[in-house]
Amino acid sequence: MLVIEDEPGIVDFVCRGLEGAGFGVASATDGIEGERLALSESFDVIVLDLMLPGRSGMEILAALRRAKPHLPVIVLTARGEVEDRVTGLDAGAGDYLVKPFSMAELAARVRAQLRAGTSTTTRLTGEGIEVDFLTRKVQRDGRPVALSSTEFDLLVLLLRHRGRVLSREHILGTVWGYKHDPGTNVVDVYIGYLRRKLARPEHPAPIFTVRRVGYRLGSAS
Ligand code: CA
Repeated sequence: MLVIEDEPGIVDFVCRGLEGAGFGVASATDGIEGERLALSESFDVIVLDLMLPGRSGMEILAALRRAKPHLPVIVLTARGEVEDRVTGLDAGAGDYLVKPFSMAELAARVRAQLRAGTSTTTRLTGEGIEVDFLTRKVQRDGRPVALSSTEFDLLVLLLRHRGRVLSREHILGTVWGYKHDPGTNVVDVYIGYLRRKLARPEHPAPIFTVRRVGYRLGSAS
């Protein structure tokens, strides 16, 4: 999960507490870095402070709702920021915690968000491929496929847009977060890795090259 919070004391407290509760935690201490990480890497939950330098929590929340509508976000607000809480609800935060909060309370909210996700959005299937976001396990025709985290994100993107052509630029921006030169061939290289890992004897990976445009998973819809 990713914690975006600028107060060092709270970052320490939250990260140590969540790690102690068994979660993998990354953190960002300003809004710009937080937004970049939240959009470019894959996290199962985001813990988001509203008042941040660089980019506000509300702006990050809006960007996340556009790019990753199912990603659970728990917003941290200062006591009395009731207006923010209402606005945040409208903007699609999954839950709120008013500072100061206890570690037990935060861990319980995180677990609730992960459970809520399990019943609806943590599994994605198609073309004999099954992806579980919670465990980050992938199967093809019932057999496990071990992917790196970048390969995993790439597969999820293709599977989410099954039957549609995705341009290299779109893939690069979504999976790598625009930090690469647009002339790079990193997308083609990773498509190659993914194809090799998903392929079975007599059953090639269902990822098609669309000349001069990009890639498509599955047949055209
Ligand atoms: Ca703050």
